[in-house]
Amino acid sequence: MQTDILSLTYEELAEKLGALGQPKYRAKQVFAWLHSKQVLDFAQMTNLSIQFREQLGKNFYINEIKIRKKLVSQLDDTVKYLYELRDGEFVETVVMRYHHGNSICVSTQVGCRMGCSFCASTKAGFVRHLTPSEILGQIYTAERDLGEKISNVVLMGIGEPLDNFNNVLTFLELLSHPEGRNLGMRHVTLSTCGLVDQIYRLAEKNLQITLSISLHAPNDGLRSQTMPVNRRYPIDELLAACRAYADRTGRRISFEYALIDGFNDSPAHAKELASRIRGMLCHVNLIPVNRIEERDYASSSQQSVKRFAQVLESSGINATVRRTLGQDINAACGQLRRDEKDRGGCVL
Ligand code: SF4
Repeated sequence: MQTDILSLTYEELAEKLGALGQPKYRAKQVFAWLHSKQVLDFAQMTNLSIQFREQLGKNFYINEIKIRKKLVSQLDDTVKYLYELRDGEFVETVVMRYHHGNSICVSTQVGCRMGCSFCASTKAGFVRHLTPSEILGQIYTAERDLGEKISNVVLMGIGEPLDNFNNVLTFLELLSHPEGRNLGMRHVTLSTCGLVDQIYRLAEKNLQITLSISLHAPNDGLRSQTMPVNRRYPIDELLAACRAYADRTGRRISFEYALIDGFNDSPAHAKELASRIRGMLCHVNLIPVNRIEERDYASSSQQSVKRFAQVLESSGINATVRRTLGQDINAACGQLRRDEKDRGGCVL
């Protein structure tokens, strides 16, 4: 059986090549072809002997994901990809253009089992985890297609990254390896709905990635209405884990807060939120919610968003309002995949 070579860590690759009778330095060469030059065919590894390339082809495969659809925003050059995986499943990836470089939002699972009510993926639930190569492949394919490098990676697409902990950790190891893609961990943001146990596990790794929490409510009553995970891990437990993460890593926590008209967007909600996170190394990212056809959620007015931000700021909490990109191509996550398979995804 052939092995998915792009999912192997450097050490695993060295071990497998050693078992095939190859000297140690081969791992460095092959790893660079895969992760630095990002070739998709062993035949392109031209500094290796033909026999060795044939040996690689017999024992391994390079996991290629295909661009099934590509939409480019006429407003701001945001690019949205629908990728097809080897087994015919689909995931979405969005590349956002900023003056400081390209930022990519990748998916980590096909579907999701977290069941957030504002997310279309709850309709069909979880299908499977993505492998490290499938998460990496979203980046490499976009870089090949655009002919440009990605400078920031956000794990905020379809799926809950901490529910796919081991594969996501391997992906991060591969992405940051100095012999490969070599992207600094400070350029990575991992977004979670709040799997407390896994946040502690991640803190122990001290990876220097930014942890982003989908909070979206200032108290358990409201949060449990939209996010079932809150019944398992209430806000106090979640915030304790966030403090531990910030203490261990020295990294500022980012709280995502989608403002839904009449639900969580009053000045009283802002004050309650401020009182819970005051003193923590953090900032709040306010998101004017996307309109969701199947749900009754409506976006807060600009005035409510501004007022909410002002209350936070006057309480000493750093807050920003997220700029909405790619509005003309519906860049909210999950919509292309839902069209393709009627299975949904994250729509914030
Ligand atoms: S919002 Fe994120 S964690 Fe929640 S169901 Fe959607 S993909 Fe999963």
